[in-house]
Amino acid sequence: MNRIAYVNGQYTAHHAAAVHVEDRGYQFSDGVYEVIPVVAGKQIDSVGHMERLARSLSELRIPAPMSERAMNLVINEVIRRNRVRNGYVYLQVTRGVAPRDHAFPTDPDSALVIYARPKSSAARKSNAETGVAVITVPDQRWARRDIKTVSLLPNCLAKQAAKEAGAYEAFMYDREGMITEGSSTNAWIVDQEGRLITRPASNDILNGVTRLALMALVEEAGLEIVERPFSVEELRSAREVFLTSSSGMATPVVKVDDRVIGNGRPGSVTCGIMERFESYVSGDETEIAAGRISA
Ligand code: PMP
Repeated sequence: MNRIAYVNGQYTAHHAAAVHVEDRGYQFSDGVYEVIPVVAGKQIDSVGHMERLARSLSELRIPAPMSERAMNLVINEVIRRNRVRNGYVYLQVTRGVAPRDHAFPTDPDSALVIYARPKSSAARKSNAETGVAVITVPDQRWARRDIKTVSLLPNCLAKQAAKEAGAYEAFMYDREGMITEGSSTNAWIVDQEGRLITRPASNDILNGVTRLALMALVEEAGLEIVERPFSVEELRSAREVFLTSSSGMATPVVKVDDRVIGNGRPGSVTCGIMERFESYVSGDETEIAAGRISA
């Protein structure tokens, strides 16, 4: 099948899709992105993702390349043309092309790229069954981790360290020894009383759309969530640990560094959350995270 990408107003063959060498995303990582899951042909939490995109753009003063409505039409067209039933949409907006100069161009023309890829749920399902291992590494990122920029080098280094250690993810910790989040996931623990603990949204973490969806699901279930930072020590001795992201939904963590969590199998609270997620993404409601990204 011929895959199609949308690049600055045109639907192009994926293999030929390209951006300019002076695109500010390429030269300065002056751009933001979103990854929106597609399950059974439907976007999951597209409103939440668009709200976060609008926030990222506004924090960086990058003009929106088109209205949200128009962007949604393009997203759906890209999903349709690529016949993606299960997979994801990748969307990136940069401050556009300009002669290289650190300061913003006076009349920026934002560049927009959208493509979609199929992705099997096999890996996610097998991780859900067995659980995954994480390592902990120092957080080497800048001070605005709440903005979803394409500047992901420290995240790549952390994920590579995890891979080399035979782990699935690296949880990063700040100078006080408190966990911020994973290299591409949000981090959660379950305490002895069964409460879910996760770091509050601030400039220190990316406010995951899955994190917000989970909060909505868990509120319905009557589980208690405490938003507070937790330490590496608390993580290592937690009753249960899990992580959330658009691609993995909720994934149990059964090992942190060299410490086994619980009995080394996914815990009951995490399993309950995964079941709720599965029924959410296979149901009719798809926008449970809408309105939860704060300005
Ligand atoms: N934190 C970071 C650093 C991420 O890159 C991601 C994935 N984009 C997340 C958390 C999870 O966010 P979401 O649930 O929106 O995928």
